[in-house]
Amino acid sequence: MGATISIRGVVISSRPHKDQDAIITILTPKHGLLKAVVPGAKKHSSRLAPLATPPLLGDFVLNDSKGFYYLKEGEAVESFKGLYSSFEALTSASHILEVVQDTVVDQESAQPIYTLLLYVLYDLSKHNEKYRQIVAAFEWRLMDILGFAFDLNNCDCGKPSDMPTLAFSFSKCRLYCSNVGCVAKAQDYCFVSLGCVEALRYIRDAQLERLSAFHAADYVLDDLCNVTHRYLCERLEKNYEKMSIIDSLPPI
Ligand SMILES: [Zn+2]
Repeated sequence: MGATISIRGVVISSRPHKDQDAIITILTPKHGLLKAVVPGAKKHSSRLAPLATPPLLGDFVLNDSKGFYYLKEGEAVESFKGLYSSFEALTSASHILEVVQDTVVDQESAQPIYTLLLYVLYDLSKHNEKYRQIVAAFEWRLMDILGFAFDLNNCDCGKPSDMPTLAFSFSKCRLYCSNVGCVAKAQDYCFVSLGCVEALRYIRDAQLERLSAFHAADYVLDDLCNVTHRYLCERLEKNYEKMSIIDSLPPI
């Protein structure tokens, strides 16, 4: 019998393993990502089965056997039930978990991403209807954690600009005003509203429990979701597509 470890963490993914088992990935603040076999996860009678459904915050006891972890026992601390009443919130959570799985690369990144993930999942679970701004806030804060911070200072040309938009440059990772010479320097950019820039600044500075506590008009939210998502996909060099499922649905 190998060693036993007790951990608290968030189950962020689960996949079938052999006939009756599952392999779950648990994000922990101390150990980063851990994979563990959940014996009998597909049997309805299994007391471990409910622990193999992400997202779930739980306390787990794992047996270490020849370099593999096996879930011995566990207890759910929070299963984010509020997510299940909204297709949009559940899809958003699934997108967030995919990004987290890709970006926790070491123990140093595990702690801040774990904390961000917990706040965002609680928020989504409680405020389904705010899923767009919660996802945008998650994406934007994650960029800071991963060292891809964007410079949100005003354009440094010193010229006045009375345009209601700024150029958000994906290649220069900073803002330019709408004067012709400045826009030319922005290279790969899109125009965003001033409200969007304000929201980006708010998210960068907000305490985690207030991360999505801002009001944004629909056109501001459109800008915001567009730039945070594209910025994330470009920096991580991956096209995250789960959120587009929501956009392809007919309005109810
Ligand atoms: Zn300028």
